[in-house]
Amino acid sequence: MKEEITADQIFCPICIEDTLPQTTGNLLRINFVGTTIKNIGFRCNICKSLVAEKRFTLYGIPIHTFGYFRIQEIYPRSFYARKLKDQKYYGLNSTKGFAK
Ligand SMILES: [Zn+2]
Repeated sequence: MKEEITADQIFCPICIEDTLPQTTGNLLRINFVGTTIKNIGFRCNICKSLVAEKRFTLYGIPIHTFGYFRIQEIYPRSFYARKLKDQKYYGLNSTKGFAK
């Protein structure tokens, strides 16, 4: 059986509290097929995760947004992500990039 990586191995307790579980192991592995991640900042001082907007793009044009996620880079072009509870806050402050 494959060993699951759990959210608490990736994110600090504050970031876990700020986000919602996604898939098995409470993590969403993002593939880059048709999706892009726009990093908007809000770096966590503890676990160094970032807030990003996940979008579906077609020929480079964003056509759908999946909302705001807290992401942790595992290796180049691969991330673990958890959806933020407060989507509105990050939508309104996406250009500021300061910690909440
Ligand atoms: Zn954190």
